[in-house]
Amino acid sequence: MSFKNGKIVIFSGAGISAESGIATFRDGNGLWANYDPEVVCNYTNWLTNYDLVHKFYNLRREELKKVEPNIAHKLIKKLSDEFSVINITQNVDDLFERAGCKDVIHLHGNLLELKCPKCKEIININYESYNFIPCRKCGSEKLKPNIVFFYEEAPKYREMYQIFDSLSSEDIILVVGTSGEVVNVCGIMNKGYKILNNLNSSRMINESIFDSLYLESSSSAMPKIYDEIRKLKS
Ligand SMILES: [Zn+2]
Repeated sequence: MSFKNGKIVIFSGAGISAESGIATFRDGNGLWANYDPEVVCNYTNWLTNYDLVHKFYNLRREELKKVEPNIAHKLIKKLSDEFSVINITQNVDDLFERAGCKDVIHLHGNLLELKCPKCKEIININYESYNFIPCRKCGSEKLKPNIVFFYEEAPKYREMYQIFDSLSSEDIILVVGTSGEVVNVCGIMNKGYKILNNLNSSRMINESIFDSLYLESSSSAMPKIYDEIRKLKS
């Protein structure tokens, strides 16, 4: 089988950014320990917890400002320079962009943005704290972090399904740093050469469907994965 003319689809999760120092709810430490995801990531009651929700995402922006992309982000950028890559991430940070990646598909939103629930205007505030400014377009006084909350529709999922549906046996899929708990990525993979890189096995990831397996940190695996993909593409 030749992969020379195929594309590369990369599907990433928190594991790839964890090595840059971004904590997750699953770690249960640091600033995250003080916040309940059902309170600060919940579409059904975020307006009730308005101040707390924004306090939490303000802190996350501060945290993001202090960290840097790691070797895994950088090697994915390198792959994007050399081949046709579709970069889909569940992460809301901008570490791929800071590594130079373009057109990243953020399934779960973008931490640097606010969204007006009324008129859908997107406002980029970079790493700043939200200081309760009204929507610049419609004047609404309630703005939401542009993060897909629990129980909220994720508009980019349709695009993700289309991408996975359109894969051919010449394509390469790299799944990196995800437990598969939020998006059941194994359930939507069909054709193509499949590479998995996770620090630990997960009950939601069926390792037997993968052609190549790296159970180690992404910074240690990515240089080897980069070489493997270059070989597949040669
Ligand atoms: Zn608005």
